[in-house]
Amino acid sequence: MTTNPPPLLIDRFGRIVNYLRVSITDRCDFRCIYCMSEDMTFLPRGQILTLEEIETVCRAFVGLGVDKIRITGGEPMVRKGAMDLLRKIGRMEGLRELVLTTNGSQLETMAGEMKACGIKRINISLDTLDATLFKQMTRVGDLNTVLRGIDAAMAAGFQRIKLNAVILKNRNHQEIGNLVEFAVAKRIDISFIEEMPLGVVDSHDRAEEYYSSDQIRADLERRFTLLPDTANTGGPSRYFRVAGSDTKVGFISPHSHNFCGDCNRVRLTAEGRLLLCLGNEHSVDLKRVLRGNPNDVGKLKTAIVEAMRIKPEKHEFDLTEKPVIFRHMSATGG
Ligand code: SAM
Ligand code: SF4
Repeated sequence: MTTNPPPLLIDRFGRIVNYLRVSITDRCDFRCIYCMSEDMTFLPRGQILTLEEIETVCRAFVGLGVDKIRITGGEPMVRKGAMDLLRKIGRMEGLRELVLTTNGSQLETMAGEMKACGIKRINISLDTLDATLFKQMTRVGDLNTVLRGIDAAMAAGFQRIKLNAVILKNRNHQEIGNLVEFAVAKRIDISFIEEMPLGVVDSHDRAEEYYSSDQIRADLERRFTLLPDTANTGGPSRYFRVAGSDTKVGFISPHSHNFCGDCNRVRLTAEGRLLLCLGNEHSVDLKRVLRGNPNDVGKLKTAIVEAMRIKPEKHEFDLTEKPVIFRHMSATGG
């Protein structure tokens, strides 16, 4: 009889950490209004982890029982050498799933190669199907490029493609039904995300434009039948299936339904901070450990195991307060 080895990363609340999300760059070719301010200052090159350092950290985590890694950013595909890194991580023994979140701007040319790196599933952000609104929400993005990217991803044959839409009241909430119809037609999934107060944004008041998952669901139920999906993905999404289709609709609701109880993840920021919670600043500077102890993976692993002691119980998001988290989602590994 084979028995699984005990998990190595457990926090004070008994939660097992087996999922790492990695922001490989804080830079992006879009400037989404909920994620960035118009005028962003990005980190200087020397301050962000090199691709080799990212690979070392990922390998250490896999050695400690992490079996799922999500590559994200910023826009991960704008970092030079990203594909090489994906290939190396995709080959790590013990890793069950390599997944990626992208804005879709590079998919048209890169989807096939990404699939060949071992990426099984991708999330593509899409907040609207209206080209003018898309430009307003991303400030610079081109909707048609992203739509062609989605088609390229479908042609590449990923196991699963999921759209992510952040919904803001009176900006894109009228797009909710159209987005689900699009997902059904393409036979892909979609998740709706409540905006989180990460970093200062200059385009809108987050409390005023808050649109809850319950409102989104009520809007959808006027047009579709949503059947509860019982499969537990171990993540923060609650899923429903659109009746008569293959499409799952997920709701990520940090404000209306706290999802911290079964949190299984930690994040590596672009500058090498291990962040124990999206909505708190508890972190460990892994870049310092790496650069202070080159070639000593043991020290790195010890720092990661010890970090579990400071993983907070839950996030402290409050839309009515000024942001207490000054880092933007792009630097965080959203
Ligand atoms: N650039 C890629 C993209 O847009 O998919 C990956 C990084 S982006 C930070 C990851 C996800 O975070 C996207 O789906 C985006 O919509 C979401 N996001 C960004 N800022 C957010 C915020 N303040 N609240 C909720 N979700 C946010
Ligand atoms: Fe870039 Fe993604 Fe942030 Fe939009 S959400 S600005 S695409 S990192």
